[in-house]
Amino acid sequence: MSPLLPQSTDQAALQANPLYESRKKIHPKPVKGFYRSLKNSFMWIMMVVYHLTPWLPWDRGVGRPDQAILIDISGGRVYLFNLEIWPQDIYILTGLMILAAVGLFLSASLIGRAWCGFMCFQTVWTDLFMKVESWVEGDRNARIRLDAQPMGLSKFFKRVAKHSIWLLIAAFVALSFLWYFDDAAQVTKDFLHGDLSGWTLAVFGTILAMTYLMAGFAREQVCTYMCPYGRFQGVMFDQHSKVITYQDWRGEPRGKAAHNTDFSNRGACIDCSLCVQVCPTGVDIREGQQMDCIGCGLCIDACDNVMEKLNLPKKLICYDSAHAIQERSKGREVRSPLLRIRVFFYMAVLLATFAAMVVSVNMRPETTVSVYRDRAPFYVTLTTGEVQNAYTVRIINKSKMEKTYRLVPTGAADFDSKIIGYPEGNILVESGKVASLRVIVKAHISQTQQPLTFNVQSLEGKTITSIDTVFIGPDQ
Ligand code: SF4
Ligand code: SF4
Repeated sequence: MSPLLPQSTDQAALQANPLYESRKKIHPKPVKGFYRSLKNSFMWIMMVVYHLTPWLPWDRGVGRPDQAILIDISGGRVYLFNLEIWPQDIYILTGLMILAAVGLFLSASLIGRAWCGFMCFQTVWTDLFMKVESWVEGDRNARIRLDAQPMGLSKFFKRVAKHSIWLLIAAFVALSFLWYFDDAAQVTKDFLHGDLSGWTLAVFGTILAMTYLMAGFAREQVCTYMCPYGRFQGVMFDQHSKVITYQDWRGEPRGKAAHNTDFSNRGACIDCSLCVQVCPTGVDIREGQQMDCIGCGLCIDACDNVMEKLNLPKKLICYDSAHAIQERSKGREVRSPLLRIRVFFYMAVLLATFAAMVVSVNMRPETTVSVYRDRAPFYVTLTTGEVQNAYTVRIINKSKMEKTYRLVPTGAADFDSKIIGYPEGNILVESGKVASLRVIVKAHISQTQQPLTFNVQSLEGKTITSIDTVFIGPDQ
């Protein structure tokens, strides 16, 4: 017996009460209504945004990338419209991630899990895959029947058709993903000619497989078990956050309508279970707030349709705050305030992060320099008695114009330098390019180690930036 199991646990007890419940396949029923239309709109908007963003043009001049958004891994840069993020500017990406995370916290405290229900890509692709599924295999009841049938010709062809369309969609998603990392038109041409590199193919295959598996098979399990946001979103809610809630004070005691259509002495819920059947995560919202609920509002649509048929007021399941619902149950109609302390706090963090990013982006130096001293050998002693060190100096021109620099070493010793390949010492660096220079420095030194500063100067002799290093000599 496993040491992790209690001593009294035997095989029969485990079978009766398994530690893990196996997944019950969910076949959501289609529903019409406001939230369904909203969900459809967001699904198409998010897909258009995802697939078209890499095709947005942006003029950066001749020979430079002309995509508005590009993650140029080989060039070590991220292009975001007018912004060029170099590896040294990684704090900008950190700032963007903080903005996204705090934006999510703010939206959760204001409008609950609206992001999950309408805009998250897991939701968007799953929704699309479900539409394909119901188009090929039929409505909820037809799909349940098909699942129960033994494999026959009709079931086989339906399954092949569904999985083929899923794979085509997943392939298109993966191709679009590649567009973010290289020239989109060129990537498409290479893809069509089967001319993708090994790494590109590996990324393409991974995204294809992830989309196919997550949207086709894992579905609600991603939201329930894998997504960290779903796990901790509860702490971002307060009693004024808007969430999808069943108004039990109106609905209970529930009962089948056929048995009692006089609603004066019973609750409005007729226990039709339509709210559960339409739910993409299989939640029964009448049991209260649950982590699995992604806030998509489809149960509201389902219940509203039922209430309409029964001539009862809608919004038995509603999108409102716990506070407003509690007050309504006492006969008081109130609206929860939008601006609360936690909302102010999130907005303050957002504004402070945004302001810090704007300031740091505007204060970024246009020229940066880095230096690497050769370590094999540390130094060379020349026949003249001078000591020689070699360095690799990288000058980055982040400005929008090409620039000509001079590199001048200074320090306590009388340093003499030579840049290999630049006899005149004028270093022309195009806009957005890096000059990698081999620099030989010689000096007579009386100490083992001397501080040395490389000054990057304009042609007029003005120091633009500088970097400190050391000049090494033999032990004295
Ligand atoms: S309970 Fe309602 S809001 Fe929550 S996931 Fe299910 S259908 Fe969407
Ligand atoms: S859809 Fe409305 S009436 Fe039907 S079970 Fe759900 S809450 Fe009750």
